[in-house]
Amino acid sequence: MWWRLRPGRIGGGCVAVKHGAGAYRTGRCKCVVCTKEHSARQVRENAVRAERLAADPTLAVTHGSKNTYNNWLCRCELCKAANAEASADRRARARRRKQLSTKE
Ligand SMILES: [Zn+2]
Ligand SMILES: [Zn+2]
Repeated sequence: MWWRLRPGRIGGGCVAVKHGAGAYRTGRCKCVVCTKEHSARQVRENAVRAERLAADPTLAVTHGSKNTYNNWLCRCELCKAANAEASADRRARARRRKQLSTKE
C-alpha cells in the first residue's frame, strides 16, 4: 500500500495512517501529532531506563556512546564525551549542508 503511505507528507490529507508514536516509529508518518507522541513516549522510556540504571549501576550498557547518553541519560565522562563529539559532528554537517545549499 505504498501509494497510501507517504512519509513526510502527512498531517493534512493522508487518512490511511493511524497517527501516533507507532506510526512515527515504523517510519510511516512524521507529522506533528506523531512526532509529538513519539518524543513524549521517548521521554517516558528514557526516564524508566535512567531509573533502572540508577538502581543497578552494573547494568550492561555501552558507555562512551551517545545513545547511552541520550537513551539511558547516563552522564559518565565517557558518555558525555561521546555525546559532545556527536553533536559537534552534527553541527559541522549542518554547516556543510547549509554552505552547499546556498551555492545552488
Ligand atoms: Zn502522523
Ligand atoms: Zn556512561
